[in-house]
Amino acid sequence: MNQSYWERTSFFKDADYVIIGAGIVGLFAALEIKNKKPSANVLVLERSFLPDGASTKNAGFACFGSLSELIVQLQKSSETELLHLVKKRWEGLKKLRQALGDDVIDFNNWGGYEVFTEKDELLWEECVGQLNYFNSLLKDTIGKQVFHLADEKISELGLSNVKHLIFNPYEAQIHSGKMMQALINKCRDSGIEILFGHEVKGYEKEKEVLSNIKIVTEHFNINTQKVIICTNAFAKELLPELEITPGRGQVFITKPIKNLSLKGTFHYDEGYFYFRNVDDRVLIGGGRNLNFEKETTTTFGITAEIKNEITRILNEIILKNTHWEFDMEWSGIMAFGETLSPIIKELSPNVYCAVRCNGMGVAIGSKIGEEVALLVTGSR
Ligand SMILES: Cc1cc2nc3c(=O)[nH]c(=O)nc-3n(C[C@H](O)[C@H](O)[C@H](O)COP(=O)(O)OP(=O)(O)OC[C@H]3O[C@@H](n4cnc5c(N)ncnc54)[C@H](O)[C@@H]3O)c2cc1C
Repeated sequence: MNQSYWERTSFFKDADYVIIGAGIVGLFAALEIKNKKPSANVLVLERSFLPDGASTKNAGFACFGSLSELIVQLQKSSETELLHLVKKRWEGLKKLRQALGDDVIDFNNWGGYEVFTEKDELLWEECVGQLNYFNSLLKDTIGKQVFHLADEKISELGLSNVKHLIFNPYEAQIHSGKMMQALINKCRDSGIEILFGHEVKGYEKEKEVLSNIKIVTEHFNINTQKVIICTNAFAKELLPELEITPGRGQVFITKPIKNLSLKGTFHYDEGYFYFRNVDDRVLIGGGRNLNFEKETTTTFGITAEIKNEITRILNEIILKNTHWEFDMEWSGIMAFGETLSPIIKELSPNVYCAVRCNGMGVAIGSKIGEEVALLVTGSR
């Protein structure tokens, strides 16, 4: 880059903290660091011209897990660990709302549903059997009776071929684009510099001066005291040692539909498919379970296999006897691991990471950002 003195002493001046990745985690980490250290020079480097991982591509469910998802998650963790995680998701959502405002992010508490069709009879029985247990487990963290049987709402919501519904009145939805726009504005208002279009290629440490780290990008190098890697599904590019598996999520949205009855957020097929209304449109996504191997990728894209199944679900379950057309399709990349916890740690002196949201970053992202900021600033 043909860098001028002016640029070198303004945009590209040495930073106290460099955050790599401008997703929800990176931006919340930046905000919390600035909060703790108001005079610090905080810089966020994002490789794309907008955040381009999962935060602007997701489905905008403000949720903490459907009943069948929680049942599966309890098989992977202890009751205490699961409760801790659900609490983090719930508190993360509260933090997100408080930071940005419900009106700004189009937060709508229309409730969430889990949908069971004929083929899901066994899953349904399992869920009904565990409903009271989970309601009692979650009552102090979330509130009174989280999960309700709600078969009477099937026709009101315009659903077909659905045998059973479980309703969760605490679930909500947001507009993820407005959320990220507001978060970027809040960071900038707080004096945080965000540079888009700068991919970090690596970082180098002066052995003698452990606190001086050179961040290497395509266009320039910059020195910092501390670096925090918040690149989620792409973290292995900089940190190959981390246990992270990428998972692509494909998302589709219909054109507006006259008199749409669907309202709220919906989980189907153990949470592998999800759909909701966005005003008078239907947004639907998921389907990684149809081809885990192919969907374990950091490459964006849409496949015919998943689009066909999504089409079937729209035709047979959500919009039977209604004329509809796809309007847009896109994909985003999530980060998964063997355990459900994110990786928030100091990897070597002054190099930190906060990654692996396990597909729940709308809920948990603000808390992950907060946690790494407390670690980095020594406030924890
Ligand atoms: C299709 C889909 C649907 C989802 N639906 C929901 C939902 O309804 N509810 C929910 O809670 N969660 C949902 N999620 C998950 C949620 O969106 C993510 O967990 C969350 O956004 C992750 O945030 P992040 O900041 O960790 O990562 P990201 O948003 O992926 O941000 C990482 C950023 O790092 C940047 N980057 C990568 N490498 C570099 C580099 N070398 N240099 C500079 N920048 C780099 C990327 O461009 C990206 O912008 C969904 C995800 C997807 C993909």
